[in-house]
Amino acid sequence: MSVIIQVALPVPLFRFFDYRIESIGQDDLTTLLGKRVSVPFGPRQIVGMIVDVQQDVDYDRSKIKAIIELMDSEAIFDSTFLSLASWLSDFYLHPLGEVIATMLPVLLRKSAKLEWPHIEYLSIDESNSQDLDVKLGRSKLQLALYKQLGIGERALKDIRKTHSAATVKALIDKGLVQKQSKPIQALDWQAQLRIAEKPRPNLEQSIAISTINEAVGFNTFLLEGVTGSGKTEVYLQIIEPLLLAGKQVLILVPEIGLTPQTVSRFESRFGISVGVLHSNLNNKERALVWKQAKEGEIGIVIGTRSSVFTILKNPGMIIVDEEHDESFKQQDGLRYHARDVAAYRSKQLDIPLILGSATPSLESLHNTIVKKFRHLPLTQRAGNATMPTQLLMDMRNQNHQFGIADSMLEKIKVQLEQGNQVMVFVNRRGYAPSIMCHSCGHVESCEPCATPFTVHKSARNLQCHRCAATRYIPNKCSRCGHKELVTEGIGTEQIQLGLEQLFPDYKSIRIDSDSVRGKGKLTRLLTQINNNEYQLLIGTQILSKGHHFPNVTMVLILNVDGALFSADFRAPEKLAQLITQLAGRAGRSDKQGEMWLQTHNPQHPLLQDLINNGYGDFARFALLERKHALLPPYEYQIALRVESTYLLQAEKFLKMSLPIFEQFQKLRAIGPFPAFIEKKQGRFRMLLIVQSASRSYLNKAMTQVVNFLDQQAESKRVKWYVDVNPIDFN
Ligand code: ADP
Ligand code: ZN
Repeated sequence: MSVIIQVALPVPLFRFFDYRIESIGQDDLTTLLGKRVSVPFGPRQIVGMIVDVQQDVDYDRSKIKAIIELMDSEAIFDSTFLSLASWLSDFYLHPLGEVIATMLPVLLRKSAKLEWPHIEYLSIDESNSQDLDVKLGRSKLQLALYKQLGIGERALKDIRKTHSAATVKALIDKGLVQKQSKPIQALDWQAQLRIAEKPRPNLEQSIAISTINEAVGFNTFLLEGVTGSGKTEVYLQIIEPLLLAGKQVLILVPEIGLTPQTVSRFESRFGISVGVLHSNLNNKERALVWKQAKEGEIGIVIGTRSSVFTILKNPGMIIVDEEHDESFKQQDGLRYHARDVAAYRSKQLDIPLILGSATPSLESLHNTIVKKFRHLPLTQRAGNATMPTQLLMDMRNQNHQFGIADSMLEKIKVQLEQGNQVMVFVNRRGYAPSIMCHSCGHVESCEPCATPFTVHKSARNLQCHRCAATRYIPNKCSRCGHKELVTEGIGTEQIQLGLEQLFPDYKSIRIDSDSVRGKGKLTRLLTQINNNEYQLLIGTQILSKGHHFPNVTMVLILNVDGALFSADFRAPEKLAQLITQLAGRAGRSDKQGEMWLQTHNPQHPLLQDLINNGYGDFARFALLERKHALLPPYEYQIALRVESTYLLQAEKFLKMSLPIFEQFQKLRAIGPFPAFIEKKQGRFRMLLIVQSASRSYLNKAMTQVVNFLDQQAESKRVKWYVDVNPIDFN
């Protein structure tokens, strides 16, 4: 028998494609949904997913192309996941085939079938177990490993996380343990579960833990805990009963916050290996964790944004740590927000969702106010640590060196002399954000991006921070030929050089995306910092991402005044989060910490409120402002974005949508206007924002616009996309 199937293909078209499958039994019909097929598409062969089966068609079947191959014997997506896909497609106004491709691990998007890699396993050699005591000798380490393997064989790479290569080798040499290479085995993590000793939760932690554990089914909790208040400890304790009941837990963390230290806290508490998903893995490694989670072979998955699409066999809970972090929003293709996807999934699966942050997004705070989320505060630091003091440094008329006030340099000196670490935040990487001719004022710029080049001394080049283009540092002005060029502004490299010059007795380290590039580099640096190998830490945003620096007692923040006057209505929220997170790196052990913010605007209400009353207070006031200004989260926004080599073409394209929007009375269209990043790689960028108090109404209007634009010839000449709940206007 032959049937016609509808396939969602990863192409930018809002429709499905019909194909024919030959020789398929009646029984197999119902099992086709959610399987992948490779099909001919024009001159290409591509992989799509079966989303519907049609037995009765009123056209000539022979005209329909046959598939090339049915790729899966079992469905990759079950009905729940298929309905998640179609919700995503409707909500984000993105073609279903591309949505499905985004949800799949890269390896499964291509025609490659999954083959499981071989890895090395350690197991006890039973044939050699007589006279065990004699052979084992008195090495406690060897005995511990031998005992662990008594529970069952384990992957060598997991063993090596807790045992040295020498211990492993000794046992192998004695013939007690054998090493075998074989395809990755199904894991029985429940048998390995061992709960290690844990601290007694304080009162607020206890309330959070019991409230969450008593809740049944879908509930969203916002765990608003000041930095260092023991949120991770709460996560550990709330997932314990779930793991014991055989349920799996998915934990989402920000891109840069996912370090081996985070993972090892979970591994050492529960004695099981955690499935880790982040951008440094290769496609095979990712696909493997994905498969293990789907088949119920791992209890805990910790991953960044895209791991929100991990299928769990026995889902128990989803946790989004640092839920305010911008890395949860995908900024190309399917522009989803992992927190929103996590919310939809939790509801679908009827399991609790935990959002944690010291600086919750205004969206989530709003949801606690309207009682959509339950609010669980942690207001104290855990253990003996106290909150750092937060202070403003009035920079007006101050003497300074390398952008740091003389009085601040004095304070840094005192801290260093006491053996403490000092952290300096600068919002720019590189040496200086621009280089200019001292004679004619010409600024060396990246033409296609219309933006000044940043000077990088360590890489000895100029770099465009929009398109990553590089140039030699010129020895004369490219316009007038004059020899004297001067840099403007200050970046991490320059601060580091300056501090080295001023404090030659202390070692400094730079932490920005240039210096942490490469696998494991950030982790190594973090370890070295916590071993006190460096006393001065200079860095960008990365420093604010949840890291634990017990020896840092002073945090100094430079150059953030620009954000006080930004055109982006989210700028105050982002700045307050940044300042609070940075301050939170100080005073994490028994030494009191302090944060100093250098500013030329010490009277600014935002800074005053934040410094005196804290993020929670600031955020609730900021919500009131949003309410009066009719801004998100009180109204919803969708951005229609376009890129074109011609500015006028971009504008004209967006304007085509206006007559349609005008038919919808209950929405407002703002624009078209140039994006904050007006030009990138030779293309002008513009956007149109539409806004309404009703999400579904807005969605309906935008659906009509998308359908209309899709049919216009102009839509093939520009790059355009829809951005639902945009988080910036870049
Ligand atoms: P957060 O995730 O909020 O930054 P952590 O869970 O990392 O906080 O806790 C900060 C530090 O306090 C960690 O070293 C942790 O082990 C410790 N800690 C957490 N809860 C307790 C507790 N109830 N008693 C003692 N120490 C605790
Ligand atoms: Zn550029």
